[in-house]
Amino acid sequence: MILEGKVALVTGSTSGIGLAIARSLAAKGAKVMLNGFGDPAEIEKLKSELGALHDGADMSDPAQIEAMVRHCSDELGAPDIVVNNAGIQHVSPVEEFPVEKWNAILAINLSAVFHTTRLTIASMKAKGWGRIINTASAHSLIASPNKSAYVAAKHGVAGFTKTVALEAAKDGVTVNCISPGYVWTPLVENQIPDTMKARNLTREQVVNDVLLAAQPTKRFVTPEEIGALALFLCREEARSITGANLSVDGGWTAA
Ligand code: NAD
Repeated sequence: MILEGKVALVTGSTSGIGLAIARSLAAKGAKVMLNGFGDPAEIEKLKSELGALHDGADMSDPAQIEAMVRHCSDELGAPDIVVNNAGIQHVSPVEEFPVEKWNAILAINLSAVFHTTRLTIASMKAKGWGRIINTASAHSLIASPNKSAYVAAKHGVAGFTKTVALEAAKDGVTVNCISPGYVWTPLVENQIPDTMKARNLTREQVVNDVLLAAQPTKRFVTPEEIGALALFLCREEARSITGANLSVDGGWTAA
């Protein structure tokens, strides 16, 4: 139980990668604050499975983020581990990209990372221990067509991560991002129809020739593989890993 006594705030943890990260941290004793949307009955089940609390803050709203951090501090304690994971996607050529989608992607995928960090890092520094783990993406390193907002936001997360890592390095707080390749989650499944339209492809072509073809391993990364790396970053053995952008992408960005 290496995380006994630690409080972990994991955004976007009602589904996919965030849920796998929350499970891996809770399994090692962390007290977890879940966040994200979903069926209330399903969220209740997750809370009892993980012995966790949940806050439904919309990560596009700084006031709700602030209230969530207060909720976590009041009920569980100030977060020792923050996993900035909530994210959305929209696929469309730039000339047709809806302005409201651009604003939402930048707010949720990038600005929210700034807000949770600015609201939690001071208490981590004061304790001399903390972990900030940002779910970036292979798209923090490379681009794909029709994902301008997502690629811009994820490149921003990578730069933000490096900067804050430098600011916190001497205080026992590490700041890293994990950059997954394609993981079969609702975020990926939901972008298939728009990718079919934007690139004039069938569903099978998108899955095989766009998604799986990007990864030399020819398989999807699993959420549990990301959860295992997030847990490793919380271990004492990982204290020298900071400012890193760790790819878990089946060789995609190496290729
Ligand atoms: P997902 O759709 O399964 O999960 C997204 C989570 O974010 C859900 O819990 C959802 O409720 C939450 N969320 C969405 N909008 C929110 C908002 N406004 N406020 C609060 N919560 C919100 O997707 P996923 O694939 O698990 O994505 C998680 C993260 O991983 C994202 O940052 C995504 O960009 C990143 N990522 C995913 C992949 C992939 O292939 N699936 C690859 C690289 C990076």
